[in-house]
Amino acid sequence: MRKYRGRGVYGAVVIGKISILKKQSPFVEYVHITDIKTEKERVKAARLKTIQQLEAIYERALKQVGEEEAQIFKIHIMMLEEEEYHHSIENMIEDQSINAEYAVKVTSDKLIKKFTQMEDIYIQARAEDIRDISNRLIANLTDTVIDRNSLDDKVILCTDDLVPSETVFMDKDKVLAFVTAYGSLNSHTAILARNRNIPAIVGVGENFLNEVKDGSEVIIDGFTGEIFVDPDEKIKEKLFAKQKKEEEKKDILQTLKGKENVTIDGKKIDIFANIGSVDDVDLVLLNDAGGIGLFRSEFLYLENKDYPTEEQQFHAYKKVLENMNGKQVIIRTLDIGADKQADYFHIKKEENPALGYRAIRICLTCPQIFKTQLRALFRASIYGSLGIMFPMITSVWEVEKILEICNEVKAELKNQKITYSEKIQIGIMIETPAAAIISDKLASMVDFFSVGTNDLIQYTLACDRQNADIEQFCDIHHEAVLKLIEMSAENAHKNGIWIGICGELAADTTLTETFLRMGIDELSVSPSFVLKLRDTIRKLDLSK
Ligand code: PEP
Ligand code: MG
Repeated sequence: MRKYRGRGVYGAVVIGKISILKKQSPFVEYVHITDIKTEKERVKAARLKTIQQLEAIYERALKQVGEEEAQIFKIHIMMLEEEEYHHSIENMIEDQSINAEYAVKVTSDKLIKKFTQMEDIYIQARAEDIRDISNRLIANLTDTVIDRNSLDDKVILCTDDLVPSETVFMDKDKVLAFVTAYGSLNSHTAILARNRNIPAIVGVGENFLNEVKDGSEVIIDGFTGEIFVDPDEKIKEKLFAKQKKEEEKKDILQTLKGKENVTIDGKKIDIFANIGSVDDVDLVLLNDAGGIGLFRSEFLYLENKDYPTEEQQFHAYKKVLENMNGKQVIIRTLDIGADKQADYFHIKKEENPALGYRAIRICLTCPQIFKTQLRALFRASIYGSLGIMFPMITSVWEVEKILEICNEVKAELKNQKITYSEKIQIGIMIETPAAAIISDKLASMVDFFSVGTNDLIQYTLACDRQNADIEQFCDIHHEAVLKLIEMSAENAHKNGIWIGICGELAADTTLTETFLRMGIDELSVSPSFVLKLRDTIRKLDLSK
C-alpha cells in the first residue's frame, strides 16, 4: 500500500480502479522519407480511422447531448474530407519528402493562421476545429489516440490537471472521482467538482502520476485529501466506516428540508445554490435551496465548440427558470478568460491572465457576443424570476455602459415585438477591491450586489487562486477581505439594495455568524452545502 496526499475538494470516500490520463500536446518531429507511396498510404489509413472514430463520437453525442451539439463532429468529418486539407498534406509529402505527421502539422498550422486572420469571429472559430482534427489525425498516425469517451467503466481518473471545459464534459457515470497532480482548491475545476458532487483531490504532486499504474486499486478520502494505492483491508474498513458515518450525518440533515433559514433569535437569510449547467438544477431542488444565486453561464460556452447561439442560450435559461418554478434565478453573464478558456474566443496568451482580458472586459469590447447573451436572457425572463449579474466590475463607467447596452437590447426586442419581463433585477459582482471601495456609488446603479470571494481574495491578497504553492500567504479569513465585504454590505443597505455572497467563502460555516452580523442577505453555495449551512444558521443566536 502507498499513501499520497493532496487537497480534498469534495468530501466522500471512493474506491475504484486508477485510469491514468497524461495530457501532452503532440510533439511532431520532422523526418526525411524516401518511400513516398507508403507515407501517403499511412495518411489515407489514418484519415479513414479518424473519420470512423468521429462518426462513433457523433453517434454517442447525438444520444447524450442532442443533434445541435453533436453536429460539430459531422463538421469535423466534412473538414477532414475537404480537398484543400488533404491535398495540401499529400503534396507536401510528395514535393518535400517529409513524414506524414509533419505534413499534417504544417498544413494545420497554415490553415489555423489563415482562419484566425479572418474578420468574422465564426470563421475564426474554425481554426480550433482544424487543430482538433489535425491532432486526432496525428494521434492516429502515431497510434496514441486517447479518448475520454473510451474510458473504461467506473474509474478514478488520475491526470496532470484538468481545465474547466474538461470537467464540464466529465461523464459522472464513468468517472467515480478524479485526482490531479496539480491544481488548487479555488480553481474553477475544483469549484465545478464541488457543485456537481464529484469527489476529487487536487495538487497531489508530480510523482504521483509516474508512480501509480493504470488499473491499480485506489481508495480516496475526499475529506482529508488522502489517497491509498493498493489499500490493505484495514484502511478500507476504516474509510468505509467513515463514509457510513458521513452518510448518517447527511441523512439527519435531510430532516431540515422545508425548514426556514432562521437563527434562534429570529434572523432570517436566504440560502441559494450555485450551478454551472442546466442539469445542476436537479441538485438545487433536491437540496431545497431557495433559489439560484449564481449560474456561471460561461460553462454553456465552455461546453460548446463554437459561440452558443441566442436560441441555444434562450432555451437553457428558459429551462432553468421554468424548473425553478418562480424561485429567484441569478444568471451571471459570460465570465470567460483567465483559467476558463474556450479556444474559439482566441484570447491572446497573456502574462497575467487573471489581471487581463476576461469577463466583462470581453463583453464590453465584443458587443456582438454580449448582446446575443443579453437578448437570450431578456427573452427567457418571462419564464420565472430572473436576476442578471455582471462579473469583474471595477468602475462606474462599466456599469453605465452595461445599462446602456441593456437598454439598447430592450429597445430592439420591443421593436421586434418580443416580450421580456419588466421585473428583472440587475446586479453586479463585488469581486475586486475597487468595486468594494466604490460600492457606495455602484449601489445606487443596481438592484443587488453579490460578493465573489474567490476573486476578491485573489485580488486583495495578491494571491493567484490557481497557485497552490502560495497557500500559506492566502489567508481566506484575512481582515482586509472581511472589511471589504462589510463595507459593501453597509453601502448596499444604505442604498436600499440587497447583498449576497456567492464565492466559496459563503459555505465556510466558521464565518456564517460574521456574515449574518454584517447583514448579508443571501448566501449562495454548492447545492450539497445548503442543508449544512441551514443547520449552522438554525443553531446560531445573534442576541448573545
Ligand atoms: C468568485 O470570484 O467568488 C465567483 C463566485 O466567481 P468565479 O469563482 O466564477 O470567478
Ligand atoms: Mg469571480
